[in-house]
Amino acid sequence: MKIKTQRPRGMRDVFGDESDFYLKIRDLITNFSVLNGFRYVETPLVENIKTFTSSLGESSDVVSKEMFVIKGKEKGDVLVLRPEGTAGVIRAYFENGWQNFTQPVSVFYLGKMFRRERPQYGRLREHTQWGIEIINSEDPFADFFTIFVFFRFLNQIKIRNFKVKINSLGCQRCRRKYRTQLINFYKKYKNKICVDCQRRLTLNPLRLLDCKNPQDQEYKKKAPNILNYLCKFCELHFQKVIEFLDYFKIPYELDSTLVRGFDYYSRTVFEIFVENEEIALGGGGRYDLGEIMSNIPLPSCGGAMGIERLKIILDKIDFKIKKSSSKIFVAFAGEETKAKAFEIFLDLQGNNFFPVANFFKSSLSGQLDYANKLGIKHALILGFHELGQGTIILKDMEYGSQEILKLSNLTKELKKIVG
Ligand code: AMP
Repeated sequence: MKIKTQRPRGMRDVFGDESDFYLKIRDLITNFSVLNGFRYVETPLVENIKTFTSSLGESSDVVSKEMFVIKGKEKGDVLVLRPEGTAGVIRAYFENGWQNFTQPVSVFYLGKMFRRERPQYGRLREHTQWGIEIINSEDPFADFFTIFVFFRFLNQIKIRNFKVKINSLGCQRCRRKYRTQLINFYKKYKNKICVDCQRRLTLNPLRLLDCKNPQDQEYKKKAPNILNYLCKFCELHFQKVIEFLDYFKIPYELDSTLVRGFDYYSRTVFEIFVENEEIALGGGGRYDLGEIMSNIPLPSCGGAMGIERLKIILDKIDFKIKKSSSKIFVAFAGEETKAKAFEIFLDLQGNNFFPVANFFKSSLSGQLDYANKLGIKHALILGFHELGQGTIILKDMEYGSQEILKLSNLTKELKKIVG
């Protein structure tokens, strides 16, 4: 049947098996995010254009070429369909006084983003992102944890053939120094690099490292390495992130050419790639949009994954959403026990439990309140005393009874009690 109208280019209607999939994956992601300590946040699908021009950068591809603009009647009243989630979330943080909640504020969103790109494989003009943000934490553990959450999620849905690429862009001061060196280097090849790179050289030199053009790869290889320009503080921060990844055996690959598309990133950046797929499944990093939006420092970290791209990957493997395993809350009393608690968390995960924790709440009572809110029946509590004794407390959250378990055969003991 012929109708007089069509759906917009690069956008899709979803129904049948496909819409069933999206319903299930939304449920899975929502539960997973809450169990990992993130609260759901919703911000408008449209924002004032300034939310993005000031933060992503005027010269970023998204701002300069890809925004869907809605002009209002009044002068200067320009709204855009949001191209990404982070800037709107930080705007909401300031506008709604989320400073008054316990910090850091960990939130997740699951919603549509709009970019006027050339539609192609895995690249739509309307797509869905699952994003997480840990707002107001300078701790390198937050960078690590952001990557860990995506790593854990992909493992849970049996996607194993992926790698995490990671880099540090340093702070503004490191980048300023680096940018000068990069420009000096590329100027020598000004007439040899592709037209896009010639434009980047004047507008946004860091994006030179993003060039995929085969003829430019030899220059990219020889270009100065940003990691050699990090200041003492940025170097130490990055070292700590890497140490966490190493310690908890999260596989990664250092890639000093990874720069990401938006200007707001500083220090850690990462991207997740599935084997044999050229386009990224997810990405993110550390940023300070507080400084950019209101001159108030707000060190934060976050990342996002594309749900349509996730579906492309899941369609290639035999994916079924399984009933989840027994949930055990892992709580720690004091910073000294946090690393060990995280080790126990990973051990439980490797033994078919579903460990739940909130590593960003430092008070024990705050963590146990969180477990109660989630309705989790069993909590393991690691105190300084127990750590010294090689034991841990198992608390029945319903009846309040407690028993002591040995750490050396924790998972066996737990299986007997919790099943
Ligand atoms: P970005 O902030 O650009 O790194 O986007 C985060 C994630 O969203 C990407 O890793 C993709 O999975 C997904 N994504 C970004 N742009 C598109 C697009 N045009 N079409 C489909 N998915 C996208």
